[in-house]
Amino acid sequence: MNKKICFASVDVEDGEADHLDEILNIFKRYDIPATLFVTGQVLEKFHDLAKDWARDYEIACHSFTHRFWNLINNEERKKELEAFVSLYFNIFQKKPEGFRAPSHIIDEKGIKLLEEKGFLYDSSVVPHYPPFKKYRGYKGPKPLLPHYVNGLKILEIPVSGQMFGIPLAGAWIRKLPGWFYKILFFIYCPQFITLSFHSWEKSEKFEEIIKLLKSKNYQFLNGAEIYQNYR
Ligand SMILES: [Zn+2]
Repeated sequence: MNKKICFASVDVEDGEADHLDEILNIFKRYDIPATLFVTGQVLEKFHDLAKDWARDYEIACHSFTHRFWNLINNEERKKELEAFVSLYFNIFQKKPEGFRAPSHIIDEKGIKLLEEKGFLYDSSVVPHYPPFKKYRGYKGPKPLLPHYVNGLKILEIPVSGQMFGIPLAGAWIRKLPGWFYKILFFIYCPQFITLSFHSWEKSEKFEEIIKLLKSKNYQFLNGAEIYQNYR
């Protein structure tokens, strides 16, 4: 793909969807496809609402209980995935394609397990991060572009940020002034970037960032569309 791609995503967890409508309204206003990574608990609590979300957005898996994968073994991870997939199937009559690990904590075993359970892509690995924020779990190579993990059929869609590892994630967008991102994107526009929000976050600045990315001619795709492009 030659175009500059932005993967817009929202993590929906802890039964909290407080500001999700506001974020989705921004997406709607700018005609942006996105993937909502929801936990099984959220699906249980908001299954009617989730059907509405699914009309415009891809619904993917953010585990069942949001327990961090470094605190549970593969057997428990497997149970979480199986419970999620069966609930998802009951609601949407199809299988989920994408996964994002709680707190981005994933390891090679976890990625393999996702492949076994039929997931087509994972979007957990943060390929670069400011030096003071360390990775947890994943130890393999961390390319900035979507790629296939060594010998597996599952596509890793990295949570790539701007240069210097500045993420395009909710808390960062809220804390850093808008002009800072404007300067970053004036200097350099990465070929691939992931925009990542949480359902409980709200900021006028989210809209500012989306406007900025639009003005830089980013094409917005959801996870399933990115997978189709990289098959
Ligand atoms: Zn989460």
